Amino acid sequence: MTLQSVLDEIRERPGTGDVIPIIDPVTEEQITEFTDCGAEAVDDAVTRARASFDAGVWSGLPGRERAKIMWRIADLIDEHAADFAEIDSANTGMMKLQSEMVVPTCAEFFRYYAGWCSKINGTAYDVKTTGIAADSYVDLHAYTLKEPYGVVGLIFPWNGPIFNACAKIAPALAAGCSSLVKPAEETPLSALLLDRLIHQAGVPEGVVNLITGYGHTAGAAISAHPGVEKVAFTGSTEVGKEIVRASAGNLKKVMLELGGKSPVLIFDDANLDQAIFGAAMGIFVHSGQGCVCGSRIFVQRGVYDRVVEGIAGVANFMKYGGPSEEGVMSGPLISAKQLDRVMGFIDEGKRDGAEVVTGGHRLDRKGYFVHPTILTNVDPGMRLYRQEIFGPVVSIIPFDDEDEAIAMANDTDYGLAGTVWTTNISRGHRLVKRLQAGSVQINCQLIFDHDVPFGGYKQSGWGHEFGKEGLEGYLKTKSVWAQL
Ligand code: NAD
Repeated sequence: MTLQSVLDEIRERPGTGDVIPIIDPVTEEQITEFTDCGAEAVDDAVTRARASFDAGVWSGLPGRERAKIMWRIADLIDEHAADFAEIDSANTGMMKLQSEMVVPTCAEFFRYYAGWCSKINGTAYDVKTTGIAADSYVDLHAYTLKEPYGVVGLIFPWNGPIFNACAKIAPALAAGCSSLVKPAEETPLSALLLDRLIHQAGVPEGVVNLITGYGHTAGAAISAHPGVEKVAFTGSTEVGKEIVRASAGNLKKVMLELGGKSPVLIFDDANLDQAIFGAAMGIFVHSGQGCVCGSRIFVQRGVYDRVVEGIAGVANFMKYGGPSEEGVMSGPLISAKQLDRVMGFIDEGKRDGAEVVTGGHRLDRKGYFVHPTILTNVDPGMRLYRQEIFGPVVSIIPFDDEDEAIAMANDTDYGLAGTVWTTNISRGHRLVKRLQAGSVQINCQLIFDHDVPFGGYKQSGWGHEFGKEGLEGYLKTKSVWAQL
C-alpha cells in the first residue's frame, strides 16, 4: 500500500461527523481529508469487539497460536517498512531517517510481546486457614489466573504515529484483548496500513477495530462507553484527566502515559561534549515533540556559560526542514495550532523578561517550523517554565549544588523523565533516587527498550508501557480457592 492509496482510502471511510482535513506541516497544504466516524461507529466497533472476545476467536487461542500471528504481523511491518516511513514522514513532516529508524522498532513490539503470549501464568499458593475446632487448620490450594481485560480502547497522539500504535496494539493482542484503536486525527494514515496488515496476518475480524475521528467525538465516546473495560491512553495530561472523568460511568480502568517537563542536570564533572550534544538533541530532535524531551536544563554554575554556548551552537547548526530535503536533522511542528501554542509560550516568556540566547522565532519559510530556542533568565513562576510546551524550546538555569539542583528539578507537577550528566558514578545513582520521575537516565537521553518498563510519576501517568509491566496492564488477576 503506497502513500497515495492510504490518502485515497481514508477519504472513503464512512462517517457521520465533520470532515477533517489532513495537512502536510511542511507545505501547509491539505493532502487528504476524512469524515469523523461519529459515536455510532464506536458503538458498532464495541459490539464487534465484544462479540469477537466472547466467541474466543482470539482470546481463546493458545498463546503459541497468537504468537505465530504476531510474528507474521512483525514480518509484514518489516516488508512494508519503506511504506510506513513514507506515510509517517508525509503526515508529520518527520525527517526520513527518523521514520525509517522507528519502523523496525515497531515490528519488534510484536515479536517482543509474541514471546509473552505463551508465558501468561498466575501464581500458586499453599494456604492453611484456621479451622473451627481448636488448633485445627483447613488446607487450601489457592492460585491466580491472568485473564485479558476484554474490550479495551487504545488512544494515542500524533508525535510518533506508527510507534504509538504498535506500543499499544502489541501487548493488547498478546494478552488476548479485543480493541478499539484510535490514532490522532492529525495522523491516522499509517494506522490504516497497520490495520490492513494485522488482518492479513490472520487476526480475526472484530479483534482490532480502527476508529478514525476527533478526540472530543470518537475518543470521548470510547472513554465513556459502558462496553469498554479499559482505556490505555497516551497524550496530554489535560486530556488524560478528561478520560479519567469519562471513565467513571462504568469505573473502567485507565492506563495513562502523559506529558512531561523533564529536567536535565549537567554537573561540572560531566563529559561536557557528550552532555551538550545529548541535552541539545534531547530537546531539539523532532522539534521537541517528544514526551521525554528535556525541556528544563539545569547546569552547575562553573560550566554554565560553556554549556549554554555549546547547546546554542548545536541549535544554530541543526537544519530544520521537510523529509525530502538534504541534511535535515529535524522537522516541523505538527500543526498551525501547535505552532501558535509554541510561539505563544515564547512571546509571553520574552514579555516577562526571559532572555533569548538563540531562536525565539519561526523559520523564514513555509511550514510550521520554529527555530530551536534557548531561553535564560527564566523564572520558576513563568508559564513556559511550568507547562509542557511540546516544541523546540528549552530553559537553561544555573545551580550551585546537588540539593539546589534536585529541588528545582522536582519543582513540577510532572514526573515523566529526568537525566543526570556526571562522571561521578556515586552522584549519578544517588540523584536517580532523589529525582521524582518514572524514567531516569545517567549520561544518556531518549533511550528506550521494549523490555524495560516506562511510565510517569505524579501527573505524568498511571501504569506502565513496555516490558512485562506493559503486558500486565491488559490482564486482570483472578484469585481462585479450593479446599483440599
Ligand atoms: P492530546 O491529549 O490532545 O491527544 C491525544 C489523543 O487523545 C488523540 O488521539 C486525540 O484525538 C485524543 N483525544 C483528545 N481529546 C480526547 C477526549 N476528550 N477523549 C478521548 N480522547 C481524546 O495529545 P496530543 O497533543 O495529540 O499529543 C501530545 C501529548 O502527548 C503531549 O502532552 C505529550 O507529552 C504526550 N505524550 C506522552 C507520551 C508518554 O508516553 N508519556 C508519549 C507521547 C506523547
